[in-house]
Amino acid sequence: MPSTPDTASRILQTTIAGSLPKPSWLAPPSQLWAPWQLEGQRLVEGKHDAVRLALAEQRRAGIDIASDGEQTRRHFVTTFIEALEGVDFEHKRTVRIRQRYDADVPVVVGPVARTRPIFVEDARFLRSQTSRRVKFTLPGPMTMVDTLYDEHYKSREKLAMEFAAILNAEAREMDAAGIDVIQFDEPAFNVYMDEVRDWGIAALEKATAGLKCKTAVHICYGYGIKANTDWKKTLGSEWRQYESTFPLLAASKIDQVSLECANSKVPLELIGMLRGKDVLVGAIDVATSTVETPEDVAATIRAAMKYVEPAKLYPCTNCGMVPLSREVAAGKLKALGAGAALVRKELG
Ligand code: ZN
Repeated sequence: MPSTPDTASRILQTTIAGSLPKPSWLAPPSQLWAPWQLEGQRLVEGKHDAVRLALAEQRRAGIDIASDGEQTRRHFVTTFIEALEGVDFEHKRTVRIRQRYDADVPVVVGPVARTRPIFVEDARFLRSQTSRRVKFTLPGPMTMVDTLYDEHYKSREKLAMEFAAILNAEAREMDAAGIDVIQFDEPAFNVYMDEVRDWGIAALEKATAGLKCKTAVHICYGYGIKANTDWKKTLGSEWRQYESTFPLLAASKIDQVSLECANSKVPLELIGMLRGKDVLVGAIDVATSTVETPEDVAATIRAAMKYVEPAKLYPCTNCGMVPLSREVAAGKLKALGAGAALVRKELG
């Protein structure tokens, strides 16, 4: 393990939402669900090497709480669901995802069950490769429900609660493996605000029950892909989706909330509704290949500091960077670390 001292004591701890682009020898760049370029033992080794590179990149950039860059999975939701029983991936049905675009999706045909650990080995490997704090991401229950056609439970709430129990079993093993932050990705929270109130928070709390590590939820406006950027154009001049969910999250047991902020039409004062929580402020726009300057990042952090005290503010990316080129993602990582360092210096 590297002997560089941990950076836990400084303020404005930097972290990333989750994913990073994969090396081209592991999976073709700039696409979601990109197929693996390796097989068998070579794939296992290739994934490990890619995680090592992702960690090295984050270390060089000064990222305090590192992720594995999601180098070991093809997709942040699908790869998890593929490992479960009760879901048929062969006979797909068409549904509308997050009310945005039609997709052929797998079908829930019977009780969903986790018959073996899914990412726990990956979490152990990540833990073994760095002395820094590490974060592991999992899909959130509502977002999982929203990628499937349900023929069995015929209730989004029931299916979400089943997924929450499965996620909790997985998360408890990751917690025991020494992961410092477990984050649940819930982009669906920005679409189904009524469901968040009715059962979304309860499902999240069920997924995090009994965890000793920090728990986080990531809520965003999606990757920088066309379906999402088109949808954003319909949301008007102010994006107020967070307004109805943040008070619920502030009252919840979740420790951290990761949100979109850079180049976004989210009114910043909404962040103030998360009082008491750690706030992971998106200071890197993932919907553009333009690399931010450290000063751009610093400006976003300074603006967010009007609503969040520095000890609770974690400069982060708006969302995953998997659709970007490696070069752009590396530049953005560097800007994130450098921007946080600038503001730290100002604060003395
Ligand atoms: Zn996201």
